Amino acid sequence: MNTPMHVSRSLLCMLGVIFMLHATLSQASEHVLTLAPVSKNAYYAEGVSALGSPLNKNFISNAGVVIGPTGVIVIDALGSPALGKQLIAEIRTLTDKPIQFVIVTHYHADHIYGLQSFIDIGATIIAQETAKEYLSSDTAQLRLQASRTELAPWVNADTRLVSASMWISQDTRLSLSGLDVELIKMGPAHTPDDLAIYFPSEGVLFAGDLVFRGRIPYVGNADSLGWIKSLDKLLAREAQVIVPGHGPTSTSTKEDLQFTRDYLIFVRKAMEQAARDLDPFDEAYAATDWSRYEKIPLFRVANRMNAYNVYLSIQNE
Ligand SMILES: [Zn+2]
Repeated sequence: MNTPMHVSRSLLCMLGVIFMLHATLSQASEHVLTLAPVSKNAYYAEGVSALGSPLNKNFISNAGVVIGPTGVIVIDALGSPALGKQLIAEIRTLTDKPIQFVIVTHYHADHIYGLQSFIDIGATIIAQETAKEYLSSDTAQLRLQASRTELAPWVNADTRLVSASMWISQDTRLSLSGLDVELIKMGPAHTPDDLAIYFPSEGVLFAGDLVFRGRIPYVGNADSLGWIKSLDKLLAREAQVIVPGHGPTSTSTKEDLQFTRDYLIFVRKAMEQAARDLDPFDEAYAATDWSRYEKIPLFRVANRMNAYNVYLSIQNE
């Protein structure tokens, strides 16, 4: 007697679960990789603002594409080999010129796991020299091992760390694919091996993870002093557009560079005395008037940790 009722109930329940799963999956796959123009010859693909997961294929960072007279230059390779391939396919809808170079802004997982797809098509990888240390470190291997589990199947046993074949040790001006390119040595800042890439003819600056807009920056265990100095170098470029490592592009370039720079200076000033005198961090943090930054997104999540990292970094100077 009660069977049909139960069957239909559990069937409904199952249908509900399937529907929800489908909704979640299609929501995740809604974020399609597309190349949006930022200048005459430059484009970028914007990742989702989230932590890397199998649902988003680790598509959480941006990549840039600049089409020169004789070839294509790519900035960062995205967070999995499959995304690297997708980026190549998108480039192919714009041009059939050879993809000659990939310039890495820094060796963080979400920016580099797509590199092997570009090696497969014969591109030359360019990065800042300090990355050699990271590439031969246990940290890099452990990170990759963890990603093979956390980001499966997008990052798996076939995913490998790809070294550059052209290393940059100082600010360098090159002609690549018929374009004038400035490679600006930024690290140690956000990472030891940060590199910013400026295309003077396009007025476009690819800044990696060194510029944050509309949110409290993520400092991590960065070199705050090095970061401030490197932002000064970028301010001198007068770029028209900044493509950051995450999030939308900026045309208010001065303001955004200045915002990140001012924030770092403010946190350093707040922490400096206590860090040098070995006074407790908690007291220095509580004694600081943070009202200038309190209303900015991610203040609650990031500010205290940022201040603590800066406090530690000053002690290491
Ligand atoms: Zn990043």
